[in-house]
Amino acid sequence: MMNIVVDAYGRRFKTLRVSLLNKCNFNCTYCTEGEGQVKETSTGITAEDLLQRIAHLHQHLQLETVRLTGGEPTLYHQLVEVIAGIQSIGIKTISITTNGFLLEKLAAPMKDAGLQNINVSLDAMNEDLFFAMSKRNNVQRIINGILAAQKAGLHVKINAVIMKGINESQILPLVDFAFANNITIRFLEVMAMGHLHHQPQQYFYSQEALLQTIASKYSFTKIDRNGGATANYWQTTDGHTFGIIANESAPFCSDCNRLRLDSNGHIFGCLSSNHPIKINNWNNHQEVTEKLQEALLQKQPIKFTGSSLSMLQIGG
Ligand code: SAM
Ligand code: SF4
Repeated sequence: MMNIVVDAYGRRFKTLRVSLLNKCNFNCTYCTEGEGQVKETSTGITAEDLLQRIAHLHQHLQLETVRLTGGEPTLYHQLVEVIAGIQSIGIKTISITTNGFLLEKLAAPMKDAGLQNINVSLDAMNEDLFFAMSKRNNVQRIINGILAAQKAGLHVKINAVIMKGINESQILPLVDFAFANNITIRFLEVMAMGHLHHQPQQYFYSQEALLQTIASKYSFTKIDRNGGATANYWQTTDGHTFGIIANESAPFCSDCNRLRLDSNGHIFGCLSSNHPIKINNWNNHQEVTEKLQEALLQKQPIKFTGSSLSMLQIGG
């Protein structure tokens, strides 16, 4: 079946980000409200329903990648089965984004089920600052998870959100840790999502400031950006790579190829849209095509504008 869903900018969906649940065992300052444990608000979706929806979307879009996220995807009790199911649908690349807290035991089973890539969020090496960012303790537990993922043969990246006035002192320690373990690290500019929708500037630490900080210790040159990539990348003189996801300074909307499926089974064409699109009959080819076209129209032309939905809700 041809992928006919394409917009005026030539954008089409190639990557599906699936939010397995909108529940989390962390409480990151930039993501949730920062008050206690997050309540479960999702009605949840069974693995069977989820896999059926992914299969329908793949039929329409010939997806190249499915990335599992949330909330915290490792809390989803049928995670390994879902990975195996996605592989049998015939999706080429399966990836996951996780806070790493439950990773040490899950790394090998996920790899065996067909997972290839894992992005682990780690915002600080210092325990107090890690707590300030996530409201959880135990950096070592995340590190153990990262090392277990490497050992299992997964391709690992680290994601770190830098917030001005909170964890900018952690940029170099995070880079040192990543490079010492031959891992690519990516820094994220804070995004205007959820409770930060109208006040991201307060914490904004720009791509330029990140580059200046890293340049105080490392020499590097820019690498050409692949179309559709969320990050800009640089390579150090000793061959290590780091990236910056600069939603604000260098938005990548113009060739964005991502579609989101949330834990209620609704689709979103853009992080900046808080309007979920419901597909009533997934077997109705015409309806699915129309709803995908509607989702594509949600994409911003050039610039990310943010949303009152948190990343936890929409699926980061
Ligand atoms: N719980 C998993 C995790 O933290 O990796 C997956 C979901 S989380 C919403 C996905 C990514 O979104 C994480 O790397 C997180 O740091 C990032 N994120 C969440 N809210 C953000 C915000 N307001 N600005 C920038 N990044 C954000
Ligand atoms: Fe949870 Fe990830 Fe949001 Fe942190 S960023 S609260 S780990 S969903």
